[in-house]
Amino acid sequence: EGEKEGEIDYVFKVVVVGDSAVGKTQLLGRFAKDEFFLDSKSTIGVEFQTRTLTLHRKQVKAQIWDTAGQERYRAVTSAYYRGALGAMVVYDVTRRATFDHVTRWVEELRAHADGSTVVALVGNKADAAAHRREVPADEAARFAEEQGLFFSEASALTGDNVERAFLALLEEVFAVVS
Ligand code: GDP
Repeated sequence: EGEKEGEIDYVFKVVVVGDSAVGKTQLLGRFAKDEFFLDSKSTIGVEFQTRTLTLHRKQVKAQIWDTAGQERYRAVTSAYYRGALGAMVVYDVTRRATFDHVTRWVEELRAHADGSTVVALVGNKADAAAHRREVPADEAARFAEEQGLFFSEASALTGDNVERAFLALLEEVFAVVS
C-alpha cells in the first residue's frame, strides 16, 4: 500500500447518496471489489472504499464514500460532501418514492458540495425491472437531461452497468480536474 501510494496522480472523492435501501452499499462494493455482499450491511462503519485505476495514463485513486446508514435519519453531514469531486445519486427502479426524492438529494448535493461536482443519476435494481418497475427509464433519462446529470440504470446484483456508470463519472471528474 505505502509503495503504491507514491504512484497515485489523483485522488477523487466520490459520494454516493440516495434513500435508504436503494442499493448504495452494494453498488459501491461491486465497483470497489466486484462483489455483491449477501449480508448487505457488512460494511457498516466503513466510511469509504477505494479502487485505483488508470485513466489517460494517470493513476487515479477513486475514494468512494458510503453514508453507512446516516440517510435513515436525514443526518448526512456536510463533512460527508466536503471535497467531493463526483457524486452518484441512486434510486431504486422498483420504488417510485426513491425516484421522487432524487430532487431533494440533488438539492442537498448542490447546497453542500462544490459547484463543479459531477453528478450521475443511477436507477439501481434494473434486474428486477421486468416485473416490478415503478419508474420508466425514459422519464428518468428526461429528468437527468434537464438537470444536466449523467444517467444510467444498473444492477448491483448482476453487476450490469455498474462499472460503466462509475467509469463515466470518474472520466468526467478527470476532465474537470485535469
Ligand atoms: P443502501 O441502504 O442504499 O446502502 O442499500 P443496500 O446496498 O444495503 O441494499 C439494500 C437492499 O437491496 C439489500 O437487501 C440488497 O441486497 C438489495 N439490493 C441492492 N442492490 C440490488 C440490485 O441491484 N438488485 C436487487 N434485486 N437487489 C439489490
